[in-house]
Amino acid sequence: MEEFYKLVNQIAQDKIEFNQGSSLILNHSNFEFEFVFILLRNYIFNSIPEKVNYTTDTYIQAIASIPLKPTFTPVVILKSFRSKIAFNKLETLRKDEQQKTIIALLWIFKQTDIQRRNTECKNGCGHDWHNN
Ligand SMILES: [Zn+2]
Repeated sequence: MEEFYKLVNQIAQDKIEFNQGSSLILNHSNFEFEFVFILLRNYIFNSIPEKVNYTTDTYIQAIASIPLKPTFTPVVILKSFRSKIAFNKLETLRKDEQQKTIIALLWIFKQTDIQRRNTECKNGCGHDWHNN
């Protein structure tokens, strides 16, 4: 499953274009929603410096700019609930919402990781996936 860690970071760092990257993940022969969902949740929460509610301006702006219709269920959930509650709800959505959920989370991680690379990682960091 290492390929998913790699792909997610390549998308976040613009080494793969977003739409192309999200379709590579969703159409991957080893794709499993649960695995990729947990990976993205951990990545997003790790990239947010505020560790109580996991909410920052970057996180809120990322949700507001998700490249999906704002009426899609995963987007509505992310806008309506605090992050930890929203993620619990996303995890249990019907199968036909799962692809949209992954696209939304990939987008959020891309924005929160850009912010992190521009701030706390700016002068070097210990994240080996940021140093290649
Ligand atoms: Zn870093």
